[in-house]
Amino acid sequence: MGRRILLLGPPGSGKGTQAELLCKALGIPHVSTGVMLRDHVARGTDLGKRAKATMDAGDLVSDEIVVAMVEERLATADASCGFLLDGFPRTRPQAEALDEVAGRDALDAVVVIEVPEAELVARALARGRSDDTAETVAKRFAVYRTQTEPLIAYYRDSARPVVTVDGVGEILDVLSRIVAVLAS
Ligand code: ADP
Repeated sequence: MGRRILLLGPPGSGKGTQAELLCKALGIPHVSTGVMLRDHVARGTDLGKRAKATMDAGDLVSDEIVVAMVEERLATADASCGFLLDGFPRTRPQAEALDEVAGRDALDAVVVIEVPEAELVARALARGRSDDTAETVAKRFAVYRTQTEPLIAYYRDSARPVVTVDGVGEILDVLSRIVAVLAS
């Protein structure tokens, strides 16, 4: 089973939850730019101070910042036998930067979690994370559709191993589906 995995999915697809469970199951590090950025904000670093307003608005932090963070993370020893990228890349320049840093054949699987739009909207309304205003949620969706979703075609068109998984259902059922596609 490939151990260099990229997880893609819209906001509310359960991507972060599945990423954590998968990393535990496979024993690979969870490389989440969202987690890393929130950690910078919590620690009050310069980077965190610069990124906070952008994140609160549902906009994307600059490619330079996230690319540098991921590059540094992938260079650490524990990422040498595998990793799961979650929330990165989110833009075409980030995907191209990853290809340069890691190589075009670096990914064993690009897993796309698919959830219908109506279900995503229902989940967003039910969840209501305190830092998520309706406006921010809508903004994140729009950013995903315009900037991140096209990466699926980018990876398909360049013959990378893209697999799709139905993200509707119980958390552990979705996890089993992902494990199954990774094993096949
Ligand atoms: P979500 O809440 O959709 O799971 P994340 O936790 O992955 O999102 O990220 C939270 C915020 O951090 C994003 O809305 C964005 O502002 C910023 N961010 C995370 N990853 C990236 C990235 N790869 N490029 C630019 N901005 C990012």
